[in-house]
Amino acid sequence: MDDNSVSLDWKCVRASLEAFSEAAFNSTRRSCTFRMVSQAQAVPVANSMADWFGSGKPGAPSGHSNGAIRASIYNQSLYAQQINGFLHVSRLACYEHAKGAISSIDEGSAIVSLSLLRGLIERASLAETVRSKLSSPWREKAKEKGFHEVFYETNIAELIGKSLYGTRMDWQKLASSDFTTAKARELSYEPKEKFMDVSANQILNHVDKLGKRVPGSRVAYDVLCEFLHPNVGDLFATTTHAASRMDAWGTRHLTREISLGRHEFSGAKDLVDCLSKALEIVRSITDELLEIFSDLDASSKEVIALNKKSMHRVRKRQAHLFNRNDLCPCLSGLTVKNCN
Ligand SMILES: [Zn+2]
Repeated sequence: MDDNSVSLDWKCVRASLEAFSEAAFNSTRRSCTFRMVSQAQAVPVANSMADWFGSGKPGAPSGHSNGAIRASIYNQSLYAQQINGFLHVSRLACYEHAKGAISSIDEGSAIVSLSLLRGLIERASLAETVRSKLSSPWREKAKEKGFHEVFYETNIAELIGKSLYGTRMDWQKLASSDFTTAKARELSYEPKEKFMDVSANQILNHVDKLGKRVPGSRVAYDVLCEFLHPNVGDLFATTTHAASRMDAWGTRHLTREISLGRHEFSGAKDLVDCLSKALEIVRSITDELLEIFSDLDASSKEVIALNKKSMHRVRKRQAHLFNRNDLCPCLSGLTVKNCN
């Protein structure tokens, strides 16, 4: 076997990344306004509001100011806003990863290309989890039982919250701490009582789930991790050429050229085989992205419509809390008088 003749072919995955980014370009260009109200005013009423929505009892919960009740009504539109926000954030993140991977493939940097493709798998996994969670049976139930009721019953709120805000760090502590003396442990995020738990997603669970749609996703992801971390992937990916030669004594001599240049893993047949299999799976994942985002888009539109219907009923019931020129509680961005 002439090992020197093999090299990694990036063409297929590049073509697929190009097709996705071209198709997603128009949607990523449209800006998305993500609206919400201050949680400080809304949260104290949120729990009793949840009961109020669920019970169907007339009148708002007692013991809260009109301002606080009004804020918590606006806050009900948060989930629809978050789903739409996630769709836009996630699509843009995939788009930027795809574009970045294309340009680093063109530059010949394998470390950056493979690291970006790994990042793309993570974003695709999360998008697929949210997509499948928002699939039609859920939406049918929401139409039947009421949007907010179903939202509370399922753990969609937590999934979306974590997908948008998931973190390992306490950002408030970080802002006020001296990084040179702080202990990393003290700056890590701890869930707070009565607030949504936004501990970062266990991304491996989502990658495993993506495997149902694209078999092999997890193995491909694990292979790409070797290039993101300073593992053996760095040695592989900085090698411009590898060769072996047997001398007259039967000793096999192995050489690697480590240099800047096109990194195509030439001469390393096993490695080319492994990476070709991983890239083929990344290509399949990328091919699924448009459908994943188009499903998410449809779900988001439907959720926004369901929320609007529900919030306009609330607006009618609580007419004394909203002036004609106030923003509509469905958070469409239109005023009460213009939002129908
Ligand atoms: Zn409205």
